[in-house]
Amino acid sequence: MEEHNTKGLGNNDEEIEVRYSNFIQDIINDDMQTQKYGGSVHTRFPPEPNGYLHIGHAKSICLNFGIAAQNKGLCNLRFDDTNPTKEEDEYVESIKTDVKWLGFDWEDRLYYASDYFEYLYQCAVKLIEMGKAYVCELSADQIREYRGTLKEPGKESPYRNRTVEENLDLFKRMRDGEFEDGSKVLRAKIDMTSPNLNMRDPVIYRIMRATHHKTGDKWCIYPMYDYAHPLSDSKEGITHSICTLEFEDHRPLYNWVLETLDVECKSSQIEFARLNLSYTVMSKRKLLQLVKEGHVRDWDDPRMPTISGLRRRGYTPESIRDFCARIGVAKSNSVVDLALLEHCIREELNLKATRVMAVLRPLKVVIDNYEDGLVEEFEVPNNPEDPEAGTRKVPFSKVIYIEQDDFCENPPKKYFRLAPGQEVRLKSAYIVKCENVVKDEKTGEILEVHCSYDPGSRGGSAPDGRKVKGTIHWVSADHAIDAEVRLYDNLFNDPNPGTDENIDFLDQINPNSLEVLQNCKMEPDLKNAKVGDKFQFLRLGYFCVDSEDSKPGAPIFNRTVSLKDSWAKISNK
Ligand code: ATP
Ligand code: MG
Repeated sequence: MEEHNTKGLGNNDEEIEVRYSNFIQDIINDDMQTQKYGGSVHTRFPPEPNGYLHIGHAKSICLNFGIAAQNKGLCNLRFDDTNPTKEEDEYVESIKTDVKWLGFDWEDRLYYASDYFEYLYQCAVKLIEMGKAYVCELSADQIREYRGTLKEPGKESPYRNRTVEENLDLFKRMRDGEFEDGSKVLRAKIDMTSPNLNMRDPVIYRIMRATHHKTGDKWCIYPMYDYAHPLSDSKEGITHSICTLEFEDHRPLYNWVLETLDVECKSSQIEFARLNLSYTVMSKRKLLQLVKEGHVRDWDDPRMPTISGLRRRGYTPESIRDFCARIGVAKSNSVVDLALLEHCIREELNLKATRVMAVLRPLKVVIDNYEDGLVEEFEVPNNPEDPEAGTRKVPFSKVIYIEQDDFCENPPKKYFRLAPGQEVRLKSAYIVKCENVVKDEKTGEILEVHCSYDPGSRGGSAPDGRKVKGTIHWVSADHAIDAEVRLYDNLFNDPNPGTDENIDFLDQINPNSLEVLQNCKMEPDLKNAKVGDKFQFLRLGYFCVDSEDSKPGAPIFNRTVSLKDSWAKISNK
């Protein structure tokens, strides 16, 4: 783990501080020393608008905005929209929302690679004029064939030695729509014998009649990523162009483009390891498939690793930034334990979430010796971790609900909850003892548990000091509200879904990842819970109000995470 400390709340007046000490900061320190970029740092986050952002993107966002901030630099948001067939405005809007929600601000520096289409075209013309690019008519298959392999050098295309004039004419006519899709490409003329396959005359423009989300039908040729990216970086004055490891082998091409065209700002590409998270797929293609085929409800399904899914699940920007700081940045790929992400939200909610009582699977308890019609109110702390959180009053009466599994007719040893003849403490209320049960005559199902209470135990402690080990939560039947609760488990059963080529990742989906419980019984105040409110349901976990399906006065609760912290256990070992 890298050294770090994080601070910062999603509050506008407070600056978000993320301290990164890592190899990227080391490179920046060296560049500062040599004044490589006049001592300035300018980064960018370059999403392709072909899907919703996920937790892996959050790592890149925190890194790019964080490293800029800690070096008093700037970070741009740039949509890498060079592939019109997969890109949509819906994705653009969701990405803007998510980056802002995470707490980052690109100010007035919102760009699109498509803003540079004319510039990119002119640069390609320049390459042709320099004899560094040519129009090639080999088919995609032939280009692959001619490229050679890691062991064998490539063969030169028969079109490689066209004259500059011919290339200029053909490229212009490509732009003008004279040729069919896929019939010609523009290739950089580099080296067909290079040990790096990316340098064997890579394609830099292709013909594709597709309506672009911003430029419409203005263009029928589109630049390739490896060509557009360095020039977009340079155009924006990006000093450090941070990307993931799979681009390492593309760096020579990135540099070739900038050097050959001798642009003013020669950005440096730096690669880092992408985030992989256990029990999660992160590929946008797979996430899109989950949505399109209805394996989840939408991109913001609370089981999705998307930023919008995590938000709906009850994650906060603070917890995600904390997670990104803890995992650090390294040069080799690894898989991070999902338990760490859950640990981060637990730590935060432990400090912030209001404690309440809710019964998910209710069992009716009648306190026979409690006065009919009497209602007492117990004052309970909203959050014992936060003295300023205050207290609230919770009503108590003769009939209450407890969890079904807090009662056991034939208890095993060391069962400290309610059982025939056994006492238990009702949280903050009274000690009760189980006297008998009422069962359905036909099914044997337990319908009611009858108890007596000890009137001297008000608040929960026995008057004679006798020990009562178990404490359970409860709600008053007359006062409780009914609400729906959604419990989530990992979306995949396999710790590394999608990594085994012989197994379809869809077969690794956990069929029990969502459990919906109707008519859960809750403290009456929860009726007014609003989207954004976060609670700890005592003994059950942290919950939030679902942002899509809740109605005013009828909240639906998502379980963000249970209380059991498997990460704390691992890390304390
Ligand atoms: P695609 O296959 O569509 O290119 P992508 O995951 O690379 O998917 P982009 O929109 O291109 O998605 O990513 C934007 C930025 O986020 C890139 O700089 C990319 O390197 C970074 N990024 C994407 N996934 C991760 C990840 N899992 N961990 C860290 N950074 C990531
Ligand atoms: Mg990408």
